[in-house]
Amino acid sequence: MTVRLADESRPSQQHRSQRTQTRFDLSLSENPFPPLPSVLRAVNGVLAHANRYPEFLPRRLPKLIASHVGVHSDQVVVGSGATGVAMQIIQALTTPGAGIVYGSPTFDGYPIMAEMAELDVVPVPLDAAGNQDLWAMARAVDKRTGLVVICRPHNPTGTVIAASELKAFLCSVPRRVPVILDEAYAEFLGPTDQVDTLALLDRHPNLLVLRTFSKAYGLAGLRIGYTFGRSELISRVRRLQLPFGVSSVAAAAVTASYAAEPELAARIMRITTQREALRSALLRRHIAVPRSYANFLYLTGPGVATALRRAGIAAKAYPDGSARIAVGDLEADNAVLRALESLR
Ligand code: PMP
Repeated sequence: MTVRLADESRPSQQHRSQRTQTRFDLSLSENPFPPLPSVLRAVNGVLAHANRYPEFLPRRLPKLIASHVGVHSDQVVVGSGATGVAMQIIQALTTPGAGIVYGSPTFDGYPIMAEMAELDVVPVPLDAAGNQDLWAMARAVDKRTGLVVICRPHNPTGTVIAASELKAFLCSVPRRVPVILDEAYAEFLGPTDQVDTLALLDRHPNLLVLRTFSKAYGLAGLRIGYTFGRSELISRVRRLQLPFGVSSVAAAAVTASYAAEPELAARIMRITTQREALRSALLRRHIAVPRSYANFLYLTGPGVATALRRAGIAAKAYPDGSARIAVGDLEADNAVLRALESLR
């Protein structure tokens, strides 16, 4: 069977009615564009052999990713999205009762996985501008800490900590404590905002960089994520690799995506341009929105989440009434502006 090729130049909202009754579902910071035709063709080719198991332990995919990132393949572990890989890291490197330090709010997966692994959560509130408070996080690390998570860009605010602050922070964390540098949205950063992760790895044997194909590459439904770090630490994470745990489509989709970098870069440009336009329009309406470096915006203030919901727009809502919305779909972005007219 062949998957019908979607119109690759248009954002797709076709799944929204399956998930909710809303007009636009912006709640999961997804990429609005369907997979590129070249990626779908590659996936279709592999589906014809879906009666066969994938590799017992993945070798091709780590090798591909390693050569793209510029590390050795024994420095990469792949899994079921960044979520699956983060869970593997937690299970491999922490013990029940240890503390996990993260900026709060953060990606929902971290508190959920911490609970599954019986870790003690140490949420450190973001500062008033929506940044992870690295000094408070450094102070929160103690002898019970088993893991630290830093997101760059941060979810849900989209903010980015300065490279110099990140470096100073990493120097303050004891080497026995692993640090996940979650770069789920790194591809949305401009070249001058990126950090040199390879140089960081040279200095910090406890660092694990976490990335995903769910966001900029637009493959959230295929569940492909990876981590890379120093081989000693990575080999401890790899020990928990689930046999046959990464599907055969993963390597095909990643190969095709790497071959389509210019098209993907054009989409990233459309999403980030759209993000800036929407943020400017929101600021003009006096809605406070931190500068975002990802594919979403964090709209702060009471009433925002409610106003969006009433207009049939699903957003990720926070206890103070703020909301995070995925951006990049012009029609949805205009609906957001109309929904928030009354808040002026
Ligand atoms: N990290 C962050 C910061 C995220 O926002 C997300 C997804 N929202 C993930 C990791 C997990 O992504 P996935 O499991 O789809 O790769």
